[in-house]
Amino acid sequence: MTIQLVWFRNDLRLADHAALIAAAARGPVAAVYVLDDETPAAWRMGAAQRWWLHHSLTSLSRSIAERGGQLILRRGRAGPIVQALAAELGAEVHTLIHHEPWAAVQVAEAGAVTEHLGVTLAPPESVLSGTGGRYRIFTPWWKKLLEQMPPPRPRPVPELRWADASAIASDDLSQWGMLPTTPDWSGGFSDWQPGEIGAAARLTDFARRAARYDAARNLPSVEGTSRLSPHLALGEVSPNTAWHVIADAVGEGVAEPYLRELGWRDFAANIIEQFPDHGDAPNRDAFNHFPFIDDPAGLHAWRHGQTGYPIVDAGMRQLWATGWMHNRVRMITASFLVKHQLIDWRHGERWFWDCLVDADYGSNAQGWQWVMGSGVDSSPFNRIFAPIGQSAKFDAADYIRRWVPELAKLPDDLIHAPWDAGVPLIRAGVKLGRDYPAPIVNHEAARARALQAFAVARGRP
Ligand SMILES: Cc1cc2nc3c(=O)[nH]c(=O)nc-3n(C[C@H](O)[C@H](O)[C@H](O)COP(=O)(O)OP(=O)(O)OC[C@H]3O[C@@H](n4cnc5c(N)ncnc54)[C@H](O)[C@@H]3O)c2cc1C
Repeated sequence: MTIQLVWFRNDLRLADHAALIAAAARGPVAAVYVLDDETPAAWRMGAAQRWWLHHSLTSLSRSIAERGGQLILRRGRAGPIVQALAAELGAEVHTLIHHEPWAAVQVAEAGAVTEHLGVTLAPPESVLSGTGGRYRIFTPWWKKLLEQMPPPRPRPVPELRWADASAIASDDLSQWGMLPTTPDWSGGFSDWQPGEIGAAARLTDFARRAARYDAARNLPSVEGTSRLSPHLALGEVSPNTAWHVIADAVGEGVAEPYLRELGWRDFAANIIEQFPDHGDAPNRDAFNHFPFIDDPAGLHAWRHGQTGYPIVDAGMRQLWATGWMHNRVRMITASFLVKHQLIDWRHGERWFWDCLVDADYGSNAQGWQWVMGSGVDSSPFNRIFAPIGQSAKFDAADYIRRWVPELAKLPDDLIHAPWDAGVPLIRAGVKLGRDYPAPIVNHEAARARALQAFAVARGRP
């Protein structure tokens, strides 16, 4: 029988994997993963996600080995490598459809490949308006997607017969150099358990808390969200599985706010199919003329959590230490960079890409363009997040204490704006500019400057 080669990409799981299921039904299975830094070019995987990938591939290799198979590892331009491997094995190739612009190039270069669904809740091209067009605004798109929901129930790992791949060359994962050494910055990543087993454990844990999601999801001081995003980004759990586990746990009505967030992930895929350069180019023309400032020192301060705004610094330090940042704080830090500092959103997007374990081309670009106001469905530019107001409103005091320990002794009501703290700041032994930075910009002045810059961009100074 013809060997069936399953080409794993960012779908590193055995359960609910349509390409694996189809392959298993047709013949003996071989499995390959190719680390491809060439086809995505500037969007090759960032450093934090490579840490994750190393562990995720270790987990997938082990799961396959426990079932008697072998995961073949190769490095280079994926399409030609898969085509050559298929020829060597005399195999037919199966993979899942991914939506990043380079994913289609990989498949086109791989020769005959059968593609299967499984990365999104529904194929983006199936969610169409009454006139047959693609949506660019989330809410009508979400309503239309719901007509197809719930998604199919997840399917288990199929019975597998493995092809003999013992003579096939495979790389040694440890030679790919995906773990940091000098220095090893991954010490704060130990809470994560990359791989399918870790994803299932996190989903089970979240199912117990999911009823409180809507009340807690905006509060960075508590663990109110699923933290499933890196597992979804690398495909260690399917979105259909996440949907059904949470809907079954708390009912579809209570689960709706969470399911809607899963919807944003699908929406990002829908947007990058329409705008493949979404990571590089603003959707709104005015932002091609935006007077961004070239400010390397300001960018450095933002990246390293040294802006003097505690909520911003807490978020940037959480990102650096753990590879993840709370969604509310992603919006605050991103807004601060582009509006308070007037630094080009693409600098922030690239930093997130390199630092996030959940880096996802569509969701990251969508998040940044939403904050900037330059996306097809965005927050208006003149909605400028007030970092101090946001910090107080969403009870971020304990979050700040954790990530900005210099300020830990300040009471809740003063920790958001330490420069106003007066005597308690002195009692806490904190001198601004020595122990913690003084704010690098004044909020009101920065706000006025941002609005002026926007007026210039629109040609109306
Ligand atoms: C500037 C900026 C950049 C971002 N970059 C990324 C990124 O690179 N990768 C990424 O997965 N998300 C990104 N997001 C979206 C969001 O912040 C994360 O998905 C979320 O914080 C992940 O945490 P969670 O798993 O606990 O989310 P939950 O609240 O538990 O949400 C459930 C799932 O829905 C998806 N999701 C939630 N919110 C969004 C959203 N706004 N857009 C798309 N999908 C969403 C995620 O897969 C998430 O795991 C970004 C947001 C902003 C504002």
